[in-house]
Amino acid sequence: MSTDAEVVVVGAGAAGMTAALRAARGGRVIVFEKSTRHGCNTQYSSGSLAAGGTRLQAEAGIEDSPERHARDILAASGDPGAAALVRAVCAAAPRYVDWLVDELGHPLELGIDMPRAGQSVPRLHTDPGRGGGKVLVRTLRHAMSAVADITFVDETPAVGLRYDGTRVTGVRVREHTGEQEVTADDVVLACDGYGNNPDLLRRFAPDAATAFHGGVSTSHGDAVIWGERIGAGLRNMGAYLGHGQVVAGHGTRLNPNLPFLGALMVDGDGRRFCDEKAQGYSRLGGLIRRLPGERAVMIWDEPAHEVARHSELMRESIEAGAFRRYADLSSLAGGLGLPEDTLGRTLDGFVAASDLVKRPVERLRPPWYAAWITHGILTTQGGLLIDAEGHVLRPDGTPIPGLSAAGGAATGISGPSPDGYSSGNGLLAAMGVGWIVGNRLGSAG
Ligand SMILES: Cc1cc2nc3c(=O)[nH]c(=O)nc-3n(C[C@H](O)[C@H](O)[C@H](O)COP(=O)(O)OP(=O)(O)OC[C@H]3O[C@@H](n4cnc5c(N)ncnc54)[C@H](O)[C@@H]3O)c2cc1C
Repeated sequence: MSTDAEVVVVGAGAAGMTAALRAARGGRVIVFEKSTRHGCNTQYSSGSLAAGGTRLQAEAGIEDSPERHARDILAASGDPGAAALVRAVCAAAPRYVDWLVDELGHPLELGIDMPRAGQSVPRLHTDPGRGGGKVLVRTLRHAMSAVADITFVDETPAVGLRYDGTRVTGVRVREHTGEQEVTADDVVLACDGYGNNPDLLRRFAPDAATAFHGGVSTSHGDAVIWGERIGAGLRNMGAYLGHGQVVAGHGTRLNPNLPFLGALMVDGDGRRFCDEKAQGYSRLGGLIRRLPGERAVMIWDEPAHEVARHSELMRESIEAGAFRRYADLSSLAGGLGLPEDTLGRTLDGFVAASDLVKRPVERLRPPWYAAWITHGILTTQGGLLIDAEGHVLRPDGTPIPGLSAAGGAATGISGPSPDGYSSGNGLLAAMGVGWIVGNRLGSAG
């Protein structure tokens, strides 16, 4: 029976657009997007792509490989059950980084200045202007518009799956004229997770249900809801990308490099509560959640600020007036409402060392910059159970024919909790599984 398209993709973020671009080599692809006006997480992200063993790393004299990348991720996630999926996306990463640069003309450089906890070598790749995920989205959309076999339909959410009791045969979508059925040989769910669905968060990740949500509003968990209805398995549902450097009262974030530039963090009593450099920003979110008032203060000095201020996140925080500069200890303590004597002792006892810039190993000196920070959830990292080829599976491990999932719609690679997230895992799961699924479907045609 002829179908409306070989492949229907639900969602036009990194996962969906990558899958569509690769799948279109095998036939007609229709991409349904809920709303580009509201955007996707990819667009709101920093756009940093983790990849091990790339040409850009080799040119910078950095020895890395997909195997080493996978080892780092698994050590942080503590989820050996995901090893096959992790190895598959790590193997895909250097290939799609080359594809982005060579075939799509996407500007990328190695972020030598972007160390992250748990990453044994620098492997985040970013656009040179540090423009963030919107640059990546622009590249992928532009590439889709040049492919005749891809039809991109915006402001048209999928509202359910067509399922004949055995296989998925298409989707139902809501157009302005009403609901339509669209048939396809294969459906790819790439519509992210449930970060903006309080009911699903209460059920699966109650810690995050009342936290600040810094992700996109369209993440309603549609893939999980539809998948459960037809018997799909779910995995790692308590995992999410948290953030511990959300500026309280503003919702902007600080540059995650700050701890590596010599910044320190104190609690409401003016005391340090962790080794700043040992925490990924997702794990840090959990530490801050457990502090009184669920907040802490980040303090940094002029040498750190001079470097940190050039990031997209910091530019947004500066524009929002999200932190202040303090000339001396008494204005710092008074401005933040911290006890001056304890804060003074903490600052006296802290040695600012930096892995990133040449700065004297010394006490932080005024003027200081500081902000109250809190925790938040950016995106969920659990979802539909998939194998290493992106097929959606039932709990017993058998595939549901005709259905694939990628990115935030599918189970991620960060283990069962927010503590297992390694920087770059979100886009790795999105682009990596999108690439694998798209290549599989593209070569099937
Ligand atoms: C602030 C922030 C910063 C981040 N920084 C990074 C980073 O630097 N590096 C990194 O690796 N990860 C980062 N992440 C995580 C990363 O952005 C996500 O994990 C990744 O973008 C998910 O990609 P996706 O394609 O699965 O989902 P998305 O990019 O969210 O795309 C999903 C799309 O599906 C659409 N959609 C939803 N429901 C439907 C429906 N029913 N019908 C049709 N369309 C639908 C949505 O509108 C959206 O356009 C960050 C996330 C946030 C929020």
